[in-house]
Amino acid sequence: LNRAGILLVEDEHSVAQFVAASLSAAGMAPRIAATAAAARQALQAAPAQLLIVDLGLPDEDGVELIASLRPQLQSPILVLSARSQEAQKIAALDAGADDYLTKPFGTGELLARVRAMLRRASLAPAPARTLRIGQLMFDRESHALEVRGSPVHLTPLEFRLFERLARSPGKVVTHRQLLADVWGQDQVDQLHYLRIYMGHLRAKVEADPAQPRYLLTELGVGYRLADE
Ligand code: CA
Repeated sequence: LNRAGILLVEDEHSVAQFVAASLSAAGMAPRIAATAAAARQALQAAPAQLLIVDLGLPDEDGVELIASLRPQLQSPILVLSARSQEAQKIAALDAGADDYLTKPFGTGELLARVRAMLRRASLAPAPARTLRIGQLMFDRESHALEVRGSPVHLTPLEFRLFERLARSPGKVVTHRQLLADVWGQDQVDQLHYLRIYMGHLRAKVEADPAQPRYLLTELGVGYRLADE
């Protein structure tokens, strides 16, 4: 069995040790880099299947590191951020990070996030024609959406919003990314569009729109489609 090689970029020794120990115990092979420069060297020495990047690094901003790595890097990036780094966290997602964890986090949360990201990465780049999540079924080619056995009719805009989230089930998509891709680059500040159309979409898809099962809110960040 191939152990997942994970590069952990974290300068805080206790956090690095905790994360590395959790990943090792779960059968993964973590390497630790304490600076952005060390991370670049480590990646040159050997590729990693997944990167975990702390945003507060001593030698370089974590967002800059992610933005500079992303064009050449296929591997998913999980960001570790402090509660005070909300804006940087969103910037990191827009720069190409795939998901985030807010400190402090537990082992269970860390491993669930890492496993989901590795699973998605191994499925890419050819997603199955039919997406099934719980009682939701989406046919990517015919654009048919069914929930709890009944067809759901979406307006073109609702469809574009749903389809954008369905491109990467389980992955958070920021408000900015959704607005840019669904409404256009010049509409990225129109957060109310997103709220209104997400409300419409939930009313059609969710059994209880107030407690969504599929269309999940990432408070202050964006939305994600559940992946199981
Ligand atoms: Ca740090």
